Amino acid sequence: MTFAAIGMLIVAAVCALTSAKRDHAFVMQLYEQWMPVFLYTVAGMLAVIAGGVFATGRLWLQESARLKEAVREAKSHDTQIEPAQFRVKEIRLCADVIASTLATMRHEHKQMSDVASRDPLTGLPNRRAFMQTLTREAAVAARTGWPLSLMMIDLDHFKKLNDTYGHQAGDFVLKRASRRMASQLRRTDEVARYGGEEFVVILPNTRIEQAREVAEQLCNALRCDPLIFEGQSISVTASIGVSEVQENKVDDATELIRIADEALYKAKSEGRDRVMLAEAGKGSDGELSKIMSSLKVEAKPATLDAVDRDAMALMGSTFSILQLIPDRHRVAQDIVEQVLAVLGGDRASIHVLDHATRGLKCLADVRLGDEELVLPEASLMRWFEDQQQSIGSNHSSVVDVTMEPIGPEGRSRPVVRVPLQASGEFLGVVEVVPQGGEPTLTQRQQSVLVALSAIGCTALRNCDRHQALQIRWVRLIEALSNTIHSIHPYMRDHAERVSALSVKIARELGQTNDEELQQIQLAGLLHDIGKIGLPRSLFEKRGRLRAGERRKIEEHCTIGESILCRVSGMEYLAKVVRHHHEHFDGGGYPDGLAGDEIPLESRIIAVADACDAMRSKRPYREGLKEEELRNRLRQASGTQFDPAVVSAYLTMGKGTEIQAETPRQLSSA
Ligand code: GH3
Ligand code: MG
Ligand code: MG
Repeated sequence: MTFAAIGMLIVAAVCALTSAKRDHAFVMQLYEQWMPVFLYTVAGMLAVIAGGVFATGRLWLQESARLKEAVREAKSHDTQIEPAQFRVKEIRLCADVIASTLATMRHEHKQMSDVASRDPLTGLPNRRAFMQTLTREAAVAARTGWPLSLMMIDLDHFKKLNDTYGHQAGDFVLKRASRRMASQLRRTDEVARYGGEEFVVILPNTRIEQAREVAEQLCNALRCDPLIFEGQSISVTASIGVSEVQENKVDDATELIRIADEALYKAKSEGRDRVMLAEAGKGSDGELSKIMSSLKVEAKPATLDAVDRDAMALMGSTFSILQLIPDRHRVAQDIVEQVLAVLGGDRASIHVLDHATRGLKCLADVRLGDEELVLPEASLMRWFEDQQQSIGSNHSSVVDVTMEPIGPEGRSRPVVRVPLQASGEFLGVVEVVPQGGEPTLTQRQQSVLVALSAIGCTALRNCDRHQALQIRWVRLIEALSNTIHSIHPYMRDHAERVSALSVKIARELGQTNDEELQQIQLAGLLHDIGKIGLPRSLFEKRGRLRAGERRKIEEHCTIGESILCRVSGMEYLAKVVRHHHEHFDGGGYPDGLAGDEIPLESRIIAVADACDAMRSKRPYREGLKEEELRNRLRQASGTQFDPAVVSAYLTMGKGTEIQAETPRQLSSA
């Protein structure tokens, strides 16, 4: 630049002199004397520019290689990211990766919720989603006094339809019939698959007479137009029971279902393909119980055949619910309980292969009978190894029943074993000791066992997936917090001091519970994690911040929350981080919460954060003396800060030395 300026000056001077003197000889003299200097100058300038371009290019190439590496590491999620490598640009890129991971997780979570609330065959809401809607609508009806009706629909002779045309045709009919029924409904009605060939419709703000009309249309729509499957015409009819909540008499959703079910039973017993009404809550209780008793179904022994319908429905909802449970032991426990409920048995357990020991590990074991049963582990392991081989060689899974000497005094009892497997994956075994001594199972019992074990296997796999996502997320948070601290080293010290002071204040406030103290400690360490990617200059700026800059800084609370809330177990921590800039009088951000609405931990961190900020030396001011700091806290007590927290700090003694306690590893959170 300097050379360029000198060159320009020379040229300008020559031009000026030329025009002033108008003397050609003088110009030639100047030209001869100065031209070499001018040429050297230009050559020098070109050399400098070329050198600059070369150096910048090299730097740029190195930089982009480093960035690529940083992003690759952040994306791989399983390597510990070395904080010292990072600069603001990398942090921004990591933040982008996090944002896209977040989006993927949200998408995955939505998919999981869809699996949990939709019936895969018909795409309709499933029993679980229906129960939620009905409970909500029943509460609305109870609150507003509006009527609410419910239809229970059961396709007639569906088993025969399956037997005649095949299961695929049955599935086809279920899909088509559900679509046809949905097309007959009003916009506000909601149809769901309750189980097997049963559907339910919630009709908000509808009297039973109106519901009857809708139900009859629905019956007609099915009856009048047979469905065509692979060139065959299949006639389908349905029986419908309708119930209604009125005048706040029956506000229990389960009761409404029970009564509609009774009416449906009546429709079946009176010849099918018809609508029956049962009005709940209308008239006296006597009248209601009369209806009930006339419809009373005789209790049948709980054999599998009798409970087949319920078992199928139960399995459907079990599957949906289990998809959302991230705890392996709970999933296993649920499956074992379902097995016992559906099959009946004295003992049932789930064992899974432990890859570390190559042995079987018990996840759940439920005993119901009085008899002491000693299950032979060696025989279980032998069976498991045999199964592994046969599954490996593509044999389909079998339900195995063997007599084993497991009863008192070595008495033999049948032991049922079924592989815990789904979609080609073999995780372990479900073992059941059925009641009684019969070593045989009906075909249906076997199907139910196989179905339950497949559900269990899928749900357990989901738990593992969930856990893997969690670990990945915790690692990213760890990397982020290390990174942000390495970019702004003062932030790490600040975070550790805030954390330590917050714990001290909490103790002063009477908090003794270790877990709660750890929560505060962690919240103190992570309270500024949302500052990821914000340039250091923003925090060190002298003078007033512009409105846009202030807004940007304030976002760190919500960004911090959104980073932390993805980790299960960190939801409350995320909330604490979100609210650590709220003011006690409601004047803070992001939500303007006041008093007790702000989590106590956030109120504590607010004071500790302010103390540390006031105490610290800034580029534009010295750190405050303890006395001045205390005065300022007193002044802001009740407005910015919780008076109880301020007074806890004030009573802690002057010059409280803040020693950072060893930060707890995030991964163990
Ligand atoms: P009813 O008129 O008394 O209702 O007799 P039904 O045969 O319809 O009733 P039942 O409860 O005896 O049988 C219901 C059948 O529905 C048995 C079961 O195999 C079949 N089913 C349940 N879910 C499905 C499914 O998803 N697809 C197919 N194809 N069949 C199913
Ligand atoms: Mg049925
Ligand atoms: Mg039926």
